[in-house]
Amino acid sequence: MPDSAHRFRTRLSQSARLSDSAISAAWPDWWSDAADASPSAVAELRFSVARKLGLDPRSLLEEEQPRFIWDDSAKYKNFKGDEEKDRPAITAFGTSLGRMLVKATPDFVPLEGLEAEGLRKSILSQKPFIGLIDLLAFLWGIGVPVIHLRVFPLVAKRMCAMAVRVHGRYAILLAQDSQYPANIAFHLAHEIGHIALGHIGENSALIDMEDTNEARDAKDDEEIAADRFALHLLTGNPDFTVGKAGEGHSSRQLAEQALSLGPPNGIEPGTLALCYGYETAEWGVVQKALGHIYTSPIPAWSVTNSIANGQLSWDELGDENASFVHAVMGGA
Ligand SMILES: [Zn+2]
Repeated sequence: MPDSAHRFRTRLSQSARLSDSAISAAWPDWWSDAADASPSAVAELRFSVARKLGLDPRSLLEEEQPRFIWDDSAKYKNFKGDEEKDRPAITAFGTSLGRMLVKATPDFVPLEGLEAEGLRKSILSQKPFIGLIDLLAFLWGIGVPVIHLRVFPLVAKRMCAMAVRVHGRYAILLAQDSQYPANIAFHLAHEIGHIALGHIGENSALIDMEDTNEARDAKDDEEIAADRFALHLLTGNPDFTVGKAGEGHSSRQLAEQALSLGPPNGIEPGTLALCYGYETAEWGVVQKALGHIYTSPIPAWSVTNSIANGQLSWDELGDENASFVHAVMGGA
């Protein structure tokens, strides 16, 4: 006999360690407390939640430990935490969401042989430089959905971005946010690198956990290759450095240099300022410079999700899954 909805919810948060926001996003709109009296509604509640969060419904119907549907093929980069408990929740949530997003993005172009140089040239034939919105437009144009997560499976977020592969298709879930698009453009270009370089196995996922200084010193070959791809795509050179320009700037000088030197070289000014940051580690100066470069900053998540909202074929999802995806996107 299944437990009450209230106890079921507690089981999801305590045994499966899912966040309240993830459980609420997955909880169907039609549920009311009176439905606890109906065995079919009780079962349907569990199926509905299981589908969205990537749980095995059988483990929810009985009062046992909720089990995530996952295998250990997903690759984690810079993972810190409880591998046994946290990884299944993150993988299952991301894979289930990625599947829905791909379903709601019916048209696609196969991604074989995508190279940074060719992609850069094709975007630059229409734009002076490559920024976050250009990357989003490119990805949606070839049928790779991208959303920004406003709901995380676990209470501790610690995720930067994730790429999911579903039957030869891809979806990208961004997690880290910024007021300044260049930060997120780099993460997105890095995920495109993982996809283009074939780092993600079929029906699997690659999860980049939080980017820390410590992580930057301990990158594996795939991380280095994806970073080089991103740098090549955004600046035209996988080994790009700011060179002699990279010393002792004030934030205003850095902003002026980035604004004057970036566009003629096909580089978004914010990206140029970030390159300065990676070389000098003067992040305080860089943050202030970004404030000068972007006169009206908008959170990257809201830009990303408003584009996604217009691009997704919501009808393909059905009401319940559409409502879940909406909630995960922060109600966009
Ligand atoms: Zn990575």
